Amino acid sequence: MGKNLLVLFLLALRAGFAQTPDELLKQLMEGNTRYINDKLLYPNQSSARREEVQQKQNPFAAILGCSDSRVAPEIIFDQGLGDLFIVRVAGNVAGPVEFDSVEYSIKHLGATLIVVLGHQSCGAVTAVMEGQTADIEAVARLIEPAVKGAKTTEEAIKANVRNVVAQLRQTPLLKRLVAKKKIACVGAYYHLGSGKVELLTP
Ligand SMILES: [Zn+2]
Repeated sequence: MGKNLLVLFLLALRAGFAQTPDELLKQLMEGNTRYINDKLLYPNQSSARREEVQQKQNPFAAILGCSDSRVAPEIIFDQGLGDLFIVRVAGNVAGPVEFDSVEYSIKHLGATLIVVLGHQSCGAVTAVMEGQTADIEAVARLIEPAVKGAKTTEEAIKANVRNVVAQLRQTPLLKRLVAKKKIACVGAYYHLGSGKVELLTP
């Protein structure tokens, strides 16, 4: 069996078992490693998969990421149809609509891994750092707390991710499920140049 086929087989096999949030995070990061190294497998992108998920979806992770065209979760994590429930908004901020969306994926679709994904050179955070917020007032208001005290844009972007993770973890549903270790909610930072997703400590 070719190495690629073997990996696809293992992915399919694992999909049949309930995995812990930590195992799912490992699976997600393995996809990022394939992407970095030009070893994409494009899993779950066939017509068979399309048919499989036509009636029902069970994404293993929810990603709250930035709308930036260079940070497409399915691509940078090498995933396919039905794998990731994705909420994308400029600056990967969270208000009531985003909280509802993430909670929906947990309650109704069975997602057990939540990743807040910021990225290098985020335009929304940069705009707030530079005080150029006239066109993105609603987004800017949510980013502002992260910018206070940040010396560099990278620091502000990471602080913004950590703030959103903390806010999500404060919602009653996540608070309860994270405490029971039923789900995990982590922050990450994507490097535009290398393609690497760096996991952030809380
Ligand atoms: Zn961005």
